[in-house]
Amino acid sequence: MPAMPVHRKYAQMLGLDSKMCSMIDSYIDRVKRHRFGNFTVGETWSTSELLNVAELFYERFGESGLRVFVLHHTLDAICRLLHSGRASRERVLVEVSARLDELARGLSGGERELCKLLTEIATEVRGLLEREGEELLEDIAPGAVL
Ligand SMILES: [Zn+2]
Repeated sequence: MPAMPVHRKYAQMLGLDSKMCSMIDSYIDRVKRHRFGNFTVGETWSTSELLNVAELFYERFGESGLRVFVLHHTLDAICRLLHSGRASRERVLVEVSARLDELARGLSGGERELCKLLTEIATEVRGLLEREGEELLEDIAPGAVL
């Protein structure tokens, strides 16, 4: 998993408060032990699983909490893929971006407020990968110091 400063750095790029970010990041990693990671592990995202968990985060931490949540799982997915050696650096970004696209598409048109919000966030995080992908790979690469 990426180090906490990596999570915080990219959360700040999305304009998220770093205190809120630290709190939620450690909550996801420590308390929940990534029980909620299962929609980013493996080959597919389970949208229904994501919605259930996202709802809990939304209720508890609000909209910015949801942003931290999606970003956290995205960074973890990049990290996992990068360290697996299964995909080249370029491939890692392509695959994770494709998952975010898939997520945004799968949720768009959903009536629920949560769907709309998640679609927006997935698109936003995808934009971040497009702009900062290279730097992100550097920060997450094995042996990176941040
Ligand atoms: Zn994590």
